[in-house]
Amino acid sequence: MGAVQTAITLGEQRSSYDVVVIGAGPAGCASAACLSARGATVLLLESNPKAARRFAGEWVHPEGARVLEANGLLAGLESKSKSLGFVVFPNDGLGAIRLEYPGHAAGFACEHETLVGHLRDRASALPRVDYLEGVRAHVVDRHAVDLSSRGQATERVNTRGVVVAAGRSARGVAASPAMRGAQISISSMAGLIVTGSELPFDGYGHVFVGGPGPVLAYRIDERRIRLCIDVPAAMSRSVGSTEWIWKSYAEVLPRSLRSGVRDALDTASISWATNAFRPRSYRMDPDVALVGDAAGVFHPLTAMGITMSLLDAEALAESQSLGEYGNRRAAQSYIPELLSNAIYQAFARTDAGSQAIRDSIYSSWRSSAAQRHRTMNLLGAASTSRSEFFNAFSRVALRAGASALMSERRTLGELAGWLKWPWASLHPQPAEIRTRSLSWAAPQSWARRGFVRYPQHFEENTHAN
Ligand SMILES: Cc1cc2nc3c(=O)[nH]c(=O)nc-3n(C[C@H](O)[C@H](O)[C@H](O)COP(=O)(O)OP(=O)(O)OC[C@H]3O[C@@H](n4cnc5c(N)ncnc54)[C@H](O)[C@@H]3O)c2cc1C
Repeated sequence: MGAVQTAITLGEQRSSYDVVVIGAGPAGCASAACLSARGATVLLLESNPKAARRFAGEWVHPEGARVLEANGLLAGLESKSKSLGFVVFPNDGLGAIRLEYPGHAAGFACEHETLVGHLRDRASALPRVDYLEGVRAHVVDRHAVDLSSRGQATERVNTRGVVVAAGRSARGVAASPAMRGAQISISSMAGLIVTGSELPFDGYGHVFVGGPGPVLAYRIDERRIRLCIDVPAAMSRSVGSTEWIWKSYAEVLPRSLRSGVRDALDTASISWATNAFRPRSYRMDPDVALVGDAAGVFHPLTAMGITMSLLDAEALAESQSLGEYGNRRAAQSYIPELLSNAIYQAFARTDAGSQAIRDSIYSSWRSSAAQRHRTMNLLGAASTSRSEFFNAFSRVALRAGASALMSERRTLGELAGWLKWPWASLHPQPAEIRTRSLSWAAPQSWARRGFVRYPQHFEENTHAN
């Protein structure tokens, strides 16, 4: 029998379940829900419920909302801030660019803690799901998990399958070498909550370019706006002080936000998080499934982590074997991974080649509804088509190349580095970690090569094209 509304305590669980899910973040809660919908008995485990108070994912694309709805997890969240797409502010004086989800699809955004608390409540109330909080899990093997809680002896639970949904900290869950994959720090993210201000486009995520890193801003409820301020790794944390943030980013923000940001910097504390990259890999040893951030991590500018976690959970429950799950998700997550790396670099790097790519992206979005549509299909994970990515990116690269021919030769040389994106999308074996890591250029080298941006002035023009 499933737990009703509340968590059970250690000792009350059965001795055996069909599946044990380790971690009750978005990936774990969705996995429990999707598996229980297919008749499995599930033990869902969370070691530190307060971890959900941290600064983390809040924006859910329509594909993520679809998985939540299909598995009874969305009810109660529909009233949250609707997300209709993104508006990019290129800071070139030519106006903002609106990118809408195709077919009037909508996602939503809400504070991370609210989202995770809601998912835990819903998942623990489902039939066949038992939920234990404050219990740390350790994988013994694919059929056994040890549970421990402060002051209580370790208990062993038997299972037919283990799902690791323990987030980036999943490495401590098992002694497996598979959990020691390299993770690269890309940048830091300063999180700020602004009240009493307006965003120029209601219902959209706003991306402000022109500071040292891009800024993503969106509404999390009627009163509050979240700012995610990217501080590239090359600028160490020591320069990430309140005044440094203000001096470096204020001028790329629209006037309607500036006084709210100043107030927030003066009165509230900044939440910091590290943005990292680890290529996705879906199986551990090869009989234990990995979902969500345990499978891989990428930069949150494209706000894909939660949606990827929910799609992992759905695919896991639909697959007949772990092999099928691993292959399916490795293929489907490759393009979102490439896109996220490419878009972050296009918005954060300052070398002439990247500037040419950025200008080309803006002009192709401005001039072509089809290109905007294609971008949003890929960005929202509604399409994971390699040919769509290849088409979108090679157009951008060709356009950038054509204008570079008129300028310096150095720009052409730097542009050559960008050809790795369309090339990588054609590569036949994306499941190979070595190949997947091709999608990344180590950010540590950016500073040496002059790829870092310093503050620029904001060109006020909030009319969307
Ligand atoms: C600054 C920032 C902003 C982001 N913004 C977005 C966004 O807007 N949209 C988006 O889609 N994504 C965003 N992301 C990414 C998103 O937060 C993650 O992709 C998402 O939280 C992953 O969910 P998860 O369930 O895999 O992992 P987590 O959310 O990390 O959950 C894992 C859970 O497992 C528990 N756990 C760990 N070890 C054990 C153990 N041994 N036993 C039991 N429990 C354990 C942890 O306590 C935790 O609660 C952002 C990330 C960052 C850092």
